[in-house]
Amino acid sequence: MTSNAKLFERAQRTIPGGVNSPVRAFRQVGGIPRFIDRAEGPYMIDVEGRRYIDYIGSWGPMIVGHAHPEVVEAVQRAATRSLSFGAPTADEIDMAEAICALMPSVGMVRLVSSGTEAGMSALRLARGFTGRDAIVKFEGCYHGHADSLLVKAGSGLLTFGNPSSAGVPADLAKHTLVLEFNNIPQIEELFAERGHEIACVMVEPIAGNMNFIRGSSAWHRRLHELCAEHGSLLIWDEVMTGFRVALGGAQQVYGMRPDLVVMGKVIGGGMPLAAFGGRAEVMRKLSPLGGVYQAGTLSGNPVAVAAGMAQLRLIQRTGFYDRLAAATRSLMQGLEQAANRHGVGFRTDSEGGMFGFYFATDLPRNYPDIARADVELFKRFFHAMLDRGVYLAPSMYEAGFVSAAHDEAVIAATLAAADGAFAELARG
Ligand SMILES: *Cc1c(COP(=O)(O)O)cnc(C)c1O
Repeated sequence: MTSNAKLFERAQRTIPGGVNSPVRAFRQVGGIPRFIDRAEGPYMIDVEGRRYIDYIGSWGPMIVGHAHPEVVEAVQRAATRSLSFGAPTADEIDMAEAICALMPSVGMVRLVSSGTEAGMSALRLARGFTGRDAIVKFEGCYHGHADSLLVKAGSGLLTFGNPSSAGVPADLAKHTLVLEFNNIPQIEELFAERGHEIACVMVEPIAGNMNFIRGSSAWHRRLHELCAEHGSLLIWDEVMTGFRVALGGAQQVYGMRPDLVVMGKVIGGGMPLAAFGGRAEVMRKLSPLGGVYQAGTLSGNPVAVAAGMAQLRLIQRTGFYDRLAAATRSLMQGLEQAANRHGVGFRTDSEGGMFGFYFATDLPRNYPDIARADVELFKRFFHAMLDRGVYLAPSMYEAGFVSAAHDEAVIAATLAAADGAFAELARG
């Protein structure tokens, strides 16, 4: 029989680090990644036949659980009509109409194949629309790996950014300004100095790539006002929060309408599908209508659209998000209680089907807060849970996800595992 260890060794010979996306390699927590054979509902089964309760859900997309029969059937039906046409279809109009109906800020939308591509395209559109080069992002937010977005803060608040990856030209990174998440005075100061240069402010409304951190309502309102005053576009990256924290995404939670929205993950149902959309006046700048070029051989792929539409139909059923949020909250409450019983300092937060937990005494407000949490305790907890059949994100900087397939029995089994894991932590 094959094993995770053998596959990991073999994988590393032909795939850099043995993985096709870095966090899968377990670098932060150590140990051997699990090679997955199949998944079903809330469970993933590895090549050794071990079953795990899955709280990653492919990093967000699998909101109805794995291999949901209606999604699988939609994919099978679509596949028999061919995998790709490179020509328009009626189904992609259905998807555009569904997105526009669910997200009132989106008047027009374009489908692409990954969140990275969607974010990169939204950025180009914002620059093309405003005729400006500078962009603003926030420390700890991830918007995919486009060059302009792999940037860390420069030496001072008003200095432009430095590349955070080798291979990103400093000449490009200098157009990206990186500020602290949830910091109102900083963004006010920046706009006062350079508002006229700023094409857009891009933000994860609830950050899910530095664990789970809410943007405060006051901060979000201020970002919106400052953008409006200075003719800059506000881009909400809802790749993770869209159709995840609520049916209408974080826009519904905060009651706000950004100029552009980036989507992915849930809308593809697990297939490579993402989108960006927003005010029609801005979207009309895209080719073939306008001068901002954007294209894709597999954009609006019929099989991906079929999977995404099947999932969008399921999440629109009555009570879907109420049940999802209740399951997520009961998981978080149970985890806090288990930690308390064993005297471990631990906090949690969640919205809809997305959650975060922290080995810290206060909820984090920004990236430095997360970086201060206890990474050693996190690592031990991760492995203690994995040993007990619960698969959490292998990094303290990731959010977690619950699906509709995580019923009471699954949550109870998770909490039983957590009780043992916290007891192990308390023993030291
Ligand atoms: C996952 C993610 C992306 C990138 O999406 P990919 O499909 O992995 O390229 C962008 N923004 C946010 C907020 C994400 O969570």
